[in-house]
Amino acid sequence: MWQVVGQDRAVSLFQRSLERGTLAHAYLLVGPPHVGKMTLALNLAQAVNCAVAEPPCGECASCQKIALRKHADVQIIGLSSNGNSAEAKPRAEIGIAQIREVQHSSNLPPFEGRSRVFIIDGAEQLSTEAANCLLKTLEEPAGGVIFILLATSDRLLPATVVSRCQQLELPPLATTEVEAALSSRWGVELEKAQLLARLCRGCLGWAVSAAVDDGLLRQRAERIDRLLDVSTADYEERFAYAAELVTRFSQNRGLVWEVLDLWLNWWHDLLLVKTGCSNHIINVDMLATLADWASGYSLVQIRDFITNIQAAKEHLRQNASPRLVLEVLMLSIPRRGSQ
Ligand SMILES: [Zn+2]
Repeated sequence: MWQVVGQDRAVSLFQRSLERGTLAHAYLLVGPPHVGKMTLALNLAQAVNCAVAEPPCGECASCQKIALRKHADVQIIGLSSNGNSAEAKPRAEIGIAQIREVQHSSNLPPFEGRSRVFIIDGAEQLSTEAANCLLKTLEEPAGGVIFILLATSDRLLPATVVSRCQQLELPPLATTEVEAALSSRWGVELEKAQLLARLCRGCLGWAVSAAVDDGLLRQRAERIDRLLDVSTADYEERFAYAAELVTRFSQNRGLVWEVLDLWLNWWHDLLLVKTGCSNHIINVDMLATLADWASGYSLVQIRDFITNIQAAKEHLRQNASPRLVLEVLMLSIPRRGSQ
C-alpha cells in the first residue's frame, strides 16, 4: 500500500509504470516543503524492492528497512547526509564529493534488493559542479538504478538536469484531506486536526510534526504574540524587530520566510473576519483575537498592509537589501484605531 496521503496522480503514474515495467531512470518530484516528496520517494523505493506481488506492501523486511532508511540499496543524499546543517550554513551545498560517491555506487550491483535507488533531497542545493557530475550519471544510467530528485521548484535546478528527469508536481493537499488523514492515521483529536489542517496549508508533513511536537505550535503562538506586540509598538521597537529579522535572515532565510508567511496569513485572516468570511480563516483558534483586532482597522488599512507584506516578500526574493525591505515593512504597519 502506498503510504503517501493524496498525490493520486503521481501514485497512479508510478503504479502503471511498475505494472508495465516502464519506470524512468530519473524522476524529479517538485512541491512545497512537507507536502510528501520524501514519503513518495521512499514508497517508490519500496515498490521496486518489495518482495510481494502487489508492491509496496510496507510490511516485508525490505519495505520496513527502507521506511527506517536502513536499506543498503536506498541512499538518501542531502545536506544532512554530509554532516552539514542547513541552519548553521545558509548557503550550504550538496557537494561534488557526495555525487561522485553516488556515481560510484550506482555502478555496483544491488547489495540486498533488486534496484538501487538514490534520493537527492533538496536537489536545488546541488553545487554547480555536483549538478554537472550528476548530469553525466543521468545521461548514462546504469540498468536497474533509479534517481529521485526532490525540489521545491524546478527553476532552481539546471535545465539540463531537469530535462533528464520525468517531472511530477506534488500539489498541496485539500484541508479536508489533511484533516481526515490526521484523525484516521495519526489519531489526532478533531479540534486539533482542524487547526493543524488549516495551519499547514496542504503540507501534511508539517501538520504531523506539529501533532507530535508541541514546540511548533508554541513557536507559532510566540510569533503571533510578537506580531501583536510589534503592531502596537513605537518606531524604535519596530526598528529593533526589523534588525532582529535581518540578523536571522543572514543566518537562515527559511525562518524569515516562515515569519512573513505567518504575518501574511494573519492579516489575510483579519481581512476575512472584517468582510464576514470568518469560516475561511486559517487561525481558527484565534477568532476572538482576530475579531478584536479587525475592529481596530479599516478594510483599506488591512488590504494595503497585505499588499506591503507581499511586496516585501517579492523584494527579498529579488535580493533587495533585507534591512531596507524589513524596516519599510515594519514602519508601514497601520496604527490601530487610526482609520
Ligand atoms: Zn514489501
